[in-house]
Amino acid sequence: MELESILLPGIDAKRPLVIAGPCSAETEEQVMEAATCLARNGVKIFRAGIWKPRTKPGGFEGVGSDGLKWLKRVKAETGMYIATEVATAKHVFEALKYGVDMLWIGARTSANPFAVQEIADALVGVDIPILIKNPVNPDLDLWIGAIERIYNAGIKKIGAIHRGFSTFDKKIYRNLPQWHIPIELHRRIPNLPIICDPSHIGGKRELIAPISQQAMDLNFDGLIIESHCNPDKAWSDASQQVTPDVLELIVNNLVIREMNNQSTENLANLRKQIDEIDNDMLELLARRMRVSEEIGTYKKEHNMPILQEKRYDEILSKRIAQAEQMGMSSDFMKTVLVAIHEESVRHQMEIMKE
Ligand code: PEP
Ligand code: MN
Repeated sequence: MELESILLPGIDAKRPLVIAGPCSAETEEQVMEAATCLARNGVKIFRAGIWKPRTKPGGFEGVGSDGLKWLKRVKAETGMYIATEVATAKHVFEALKYGVDMLWIGARTSANPFAVQEIADALVGVDIPILIKNPVNPDLDLWIGAIERIYNAGIKKIGAIHRGFSTFDKKIYRNLPQWHIPIELHRRIPNLPIICDPSHIGGKRELIAPISQQAMDLNFDGLIIESHCNPDKAWSDASQQVTPDVLELIVNNLVIREMNNQSTENLANLRKQIDEIDNDMLELLARRMRVSEEIGTYKKEHNMPILQEKRYDEILSKRIAQAEQMGMSSDFMKTVLVAIHEESVRHQMEIMKE
């Protein structure tokens, strides 16, 4: 792809490029207050959602076009560039009418090729940066497809936003980072800037700093962070917004390691893979414990003892042999299996006590 820089005039090329602002524009006062503080803290691009895609009806669905007047005021009074999310051709036309400088396509929209094509058609002849969030589902081809639709409409200033992927089980993260997906995106389209959205990945404000640091360690180009002067009172995504001062602190504390050396980048990628595998391993172990508890309930109802020696011996010998075939030592596998078994027994004993 022949891409052009998404850096607008006056924005320096130093990492990270920071885009910040509230999840949603709520009132003119809230928008102006957040914008004034963010501008004072050095933010150059202000974000605010005007049309909000909500999971369920009845939530705050955004203020609509009225909010664009407030964004225009932000631009006039603070000098910041303004950015918002578009999901339809009408949103594109409205946003352009009010001088919005940068648009992004949200995760629910980029999962829908009809919607992305409609936006792409509306963008023909437009020359502003367009950022494309990953689709909600972990499908790299769908993400690249959305990027290609926008590129084919003649847009050259394109960036990707990594905002994580939804899962049924929401544990630590609101949206699982699955870092290998943006890493693979970078491998396939090396000149495409990637911006991390730690707010939507973490879903909690205390995760914003560590996720931002991980993104910087993986050589991401920028960050888009939700910021509100009174985060707990925000009308959407309250738990993941930070005040402009906290945002400044997070950005200033980032360690930016220069990655001009390919081997450092490879090492960071490999470590990320290890972290993800460990995470998966923990999830699997927790799942195994839950199944084991169900077995405990069954044994209790049928008056069976917890320890079923024959079954245990079978598991041990079968898995140790398998591990050896896979290049792991039998001692190591025995230690792991015994530890897992002990923990399972402990869970089943708790069930018996109930
Ligand atoms: C947002 O940026 O406020 C938003 C709705 O994000 P996403 O599309 O990533 O859910
Ligand atoms: Mn949000």
